[in-house]
Amino acid sequence: MSHTPTPTIPERAIQGDLAGQRRSAPRRPTLWPILALREACQIKQVDYEETPEFVALRGAVVTCGQTAIISVSSSLKDDEKRLTLAHELGHIALGHIRGVPAPYLWEGQDAPLSLTQDKDREREADIWAAHLLVEPEVYAENLQHVQEFEQDSTRAAVQAMRQTARQVRLPVRIIKLWLKTRDCPFEETPTTWLRAPSAWSQHERK
Ligand SMILES: [Zn+2]
Repeated sequence: MSHTPTPTIPERAIQGDLAGQRRSAPRRPTLWPILALREACQIKQVDYEETPEFVALRGAVVTCGQTAIISVSSSLKDDEKRLTLAHELGHIALGHIRGVPAPYLWEGQDAPLSLTQDKDREREADIWAAHLLVEPEVYAENLQHVQEFEQDSTRAAVQAMRQTARQVRLPVRIIKLWLKTRDCPFEETPTTWLRAPSAWSQHERK
């Protein structure tokens, strides 16, 4: 009589996860690696540059007429540059920089300057970035996996968020934001906006 092995329940992994000790979760190729985002920027006619001049700033977006330039601090890690770039693109896509007297946004590390004091817009740009970068199927797979050994739905969601964050290389807060806003996507999804083969200035804000 053959013995069917019981599926291994990664107890230690679970505990490690909860304690925040497991840092080397498998990473998978992401939908929008920074190079793909930069290529998309070219199509949107958004210039991207990395600057060593930003110390306390993560990034900024400046527009003038048809020109848009996103500057990102060169001291950031690649994953942070990617998120910052996506966030700045969100400001452009959402029309935050239209009709603003000083058409630029600076992103501070902690204390935002200028227009970033508009918390609603900051959150909106973060949500836009989250919906661009978080892959729903990654979260769904993780949740399904976690639910095999975690009955409590809140704890399962937290676990799945942490797993997803590591895999798609984003902070947990972005995954959380995505999850919270899952049912209220934008009229035009961020991916649709970014893939549309037209310059950013050709999009009319609805
Ligand atoms: Zn911003």
